[in-house]
Amino acid sequence: MPDRATILYIEDDPSSRQLIQRTLTFAGYRVLVAPCGLDGIDFAKRELPDLILMDMDLPDLSGREVTTRLRGDTRFHDTPIVALTGQNQTGDRERAIAAGLTGYLNKPIDIEKLPAQVAYYLRGGKDVADEVMLRRAQADYNQEVVSRLESKIRELERSNAELRRLDKVKDAFIQLTAHELRTPLTLIYGYSRLIQESPTLNQLRAQSTEFGSFVDGLVESIERMARVINEILTMARIASGRVDLALTTLNLGDVAERAIHQYEVVARQRNLSMRFEAGQWRLAVRADAELIELALHNLLGNAIKYTPDGGLINLMCRINVSSVQISVQDSGIGIDLADQKSIFERFYTANDTQLHSTSKTAFRGGGLGLGLSITRGIIEAHGGRIWVESTGRDERKLPGSTFFIELPLQARAGTTLRPLIAESFDGSDAAAAGH
Ligand code: ADP
Repeated sequence: MPDRATILYIEDDPSSRQLIQRTLTFAGYRVLVAPCGLDGIDFAKRELPDLILMDMDLPDLSGREVTTRLRGDTRFHDTPIVALTGQNQTGDRERAIAAGLTGYLNKPIDIEKLPAQVAYYLRGGKDVADEVMLRRAQADYNQEVVSRLESKIRELERSNAELRRLDKVKDAFIQLTAHELRTPLTLIYGYSRLIQESPTLNQLRAQSTEFGSFVDGLVESIERMARVINEILTMARIASGRVDLALTTLNLGDVAERAIHQYEVVARQRNLSMRFEAGQWRLAVRADAELIELALHNLLGNAIKYTPDGGLINLMCRINVSSVQISVQDSGIGIDLADQKSIFERFYTANDTQLHSTSKTAFRGGGLGLGLSITRGIIEAHGGRIWVESTGRDERKLPGSTFFIELPLQARAGTTLRPLIAESFDGSDAAAAGH
């Protein structure tokens, strides 16, 4: 027996765990415990114990299943795995041995004898079983595992269907609520704009600046609220798979310019330089102008939010043989590798939400975590893809991030999407010319 051998005891009953742990620790062993089969497998792989004691009635996997799973790993081929169990029907022992257990100790355990029994298995001792019974037990066990797997799959399918149903209910609820909020908000916005522009307010402004700024603040907040509601509605539309693209032949450069234009003021205020070479963008594509503009708007908005004042934002376009690649590059805080997939999911924000404000343009302002999933929905509805490249997040070194959008210029085989057709405005073949 090695010095201070490590024993892992997998058992869901806390009092049994405590009793065995105390007894074996007292006998000089290092004892680890796990409360269920899955944890037991993880512990065993991490700690590589010299012997495993196994309760057979675990809440998740059975003791036999855990053993079969461990025996499949070469590191556990020779590890003694011993059942500590109340199961003492005819054939239980054979079934356990058929599943790969080394020994079988029946409960109630004789505490006095346990250390010696453990030492026996540690020295290589094994229980033997009747060959014929063992073969039958093996066949029964295989059947049992397969039918348990089948019922688990059915159970998962049922709960999956239920989760999908609940997800739809939730989407419908969000959409309905956003709709209901938008209607009165439109009225509130209309009235507040009337007040803002009324001659009476102008007179009041002359008397007291305070009153005017109250109304300006009110209008600004309503506009922000409307933006959030619109974002939710667009997301709900995309999530429900009902993105009806209003396809037109559009000039990609014009769309990009419109998206950039909306941020010119804030870029100046925050001393951000935005690079955009109109020449690269001389391309007509069939796409939904409003949605493509929204996608670019979201990416530029993020680049602005996550780049400190004085930084650089580059909006570029490259035309390949069968696709157009748009990139939004910033010199901002960057994105951790671990977050680079999740940020495209709904309501995912990589930063501490405490830093979030609904500001769309302040450094580290943030939103609901919907912008990128909306953008992805738009791009995928056009048959394209979106991804990000960044070496990681570092608020001091500012590694920056580059978001890429790739839109196909021809329909791919097997897709039902309407194709995006490229043609240059001056009549020559844009793809071949490589603009
Ligand atoms: P939000 O409304 O929170 O900005 P988005 O879906 O637009 O939601 O973005 C999700 C998360 O991705 C953000 O919370 C942010 O952590 C990260 N992110 C997006 N764009 C950038 C960027 N250019 N630089 C750094 N982080 C970014």
